[in-house]
Amino acid sequence: MCMICVEFQKSRMTPFEARRALGEMVEDLDPEHVAEVEELLAEAEEKEGDDE
Ligand SMILES: [Zn+2]
Repeated sequence: MCMICVEFQKSRMTPFEARRALGEMVEDLDPEHVAEVEELLAEAEEKEGDDE
């Protein structure tokens, strides 16, 4: 769990913003966790695509 997950789960970040934040933080995060966050975002982006 990192700042991105926290903000994203509170819906304070869109998947797009979270992805940008992830790009900036990727070097500070555990690679395994980066993969988890990417999965989370991919799921959210799929759901978001249904609305638009
Ligand atoms: Zn996290």
